[in-house]
Amino acid sequence: MFEKIERADLNELHFRYDKSSGLRAIIAIHNTRLGPALGGCRFIAYNNDDDAIDDVIRLARGMSYKAAIANVPQGGGKAVILKPMEAFDRQDLFQAFGRFIHDLGGRYITAVDSGSLIRDMDEVAINTPYVSGTSKDGHDPSPVTALGVYAGIRAAVQHQLQRDSLKGLRIAVQGVGNVGHALAALLHKDGVKLIVSDVDDNRVHRCVTDFGATVVATDDIYGVDCELFAPCGLGGILNAKTIPKLRCSIVAGAANNQLSDDSQGDLLHKKGILYAPDYVINAGGLIQVSLGYLKKTDSEINQRTIALGSTLTDLFERSRADNTPPEQIANRVAEALLFD
Ligand code: NAD
Repeated sequence: MFEKIERADLNELHFRYDKSSGLRAIIAIHNTRLGPALGGCRFIAYNNDDDAIDDVIRLARGMSYKAAIANVPQGGGKAVILKPMEAFDRQDLFQAFGRFIHDLGGRYITAVDSGSLIRDMDEVAINTPYVSGTSKDGHDPSPVTALGVYAGIRAAVQHQLQRDSLKGLRIAVQGVGNVGHALAALLHKDGVKLIVSDVDDNRVHRCVTDFGATVVATDDIYGVDCELFAPCGLGGILNAKTIPKLRCSIVAGAANNQLSDDSQGDLLHKKGILYAPDYVINAGGLIQVSLGYLKKTDSEINQRTIALGSTLTDLFERSRADNTPPEQIANRVAEALLFD
């Protein structure tokens, strides 16, 4: 166990079993140098405890890097609640989770993540104030995430194509769910020609109706002749099979963990394709959860999200100057803030 903790530079790992609700939960606090750890709570079934531990440690570490580079006063943390196999009372479970968080005295603040819902956060809030994104806050992070991705796309286009306007550019969006659709709306307003794919037919048809988008099959989106490819669906989609198919000069989208491994970032860089590091460009949701918790106004949240564009411009310039992939530069910047 300590080997895992050491390898991830993790500060704290907490476990809680609550007999009456059946709660089995883990909270990982990676780094609190810049503020209390903030990160969502996953509520999914795991094959075994080790998988849950690995997941929460990896995700908490990622949140430290994201918060550092997004310049929010927050450390990195994450929680997982192992979804019970047997029958359970959801309200009891999340209330017990709220007590667990409260016992950590504010070093960890929770929010919604895969499998958890806003109404679960309402249950958490019964027992602790250390929760962001309850139904009282009324914050949906997706539009803000899309705004950050849009700002990042403008920065990438300016850097790579020396263009201030997106008008007439062809942008391929993979996955038009909550973030992808909101992003497509912003791009459409700027006169972008949209090419979209999604496994959900209703979602692609909504883009045809709303934005006159061209639809391609899910496997064909990689080979679309376009200026920019925006992955907004799944992780791991930039890999040895897909990168050789790309015909764009920029990859910039919302999906988490787009590179299947670090070597794929090197491959994109060698091919001259500009990659906007995912955890930088998609940090709008975190900015909202963090600054919303600190009671900042929507206007400040939007401004800080749009500023992700300037952050990316700096990374792109340093990447060019050092001939190093942008995600490696981003990691260095985050590590200097977290560890130096
Ligand atoms: P979502 O579930 O609303 O949308 C994802 C879409 O991708 C869905 O429409 C789904 O049908 C589609 N999809 C799945 N597999 C696909 C495939 N093989 N090809 C094409 N489309 C496919 O999720 P979302 O909230 O829009 O998030 C999208 C991505 O952005 C995720 O990776 C998420 O982790 C990341 N992200 C989201 C936020 C946020 O605020 N929602 C913040 C940061 C990062």
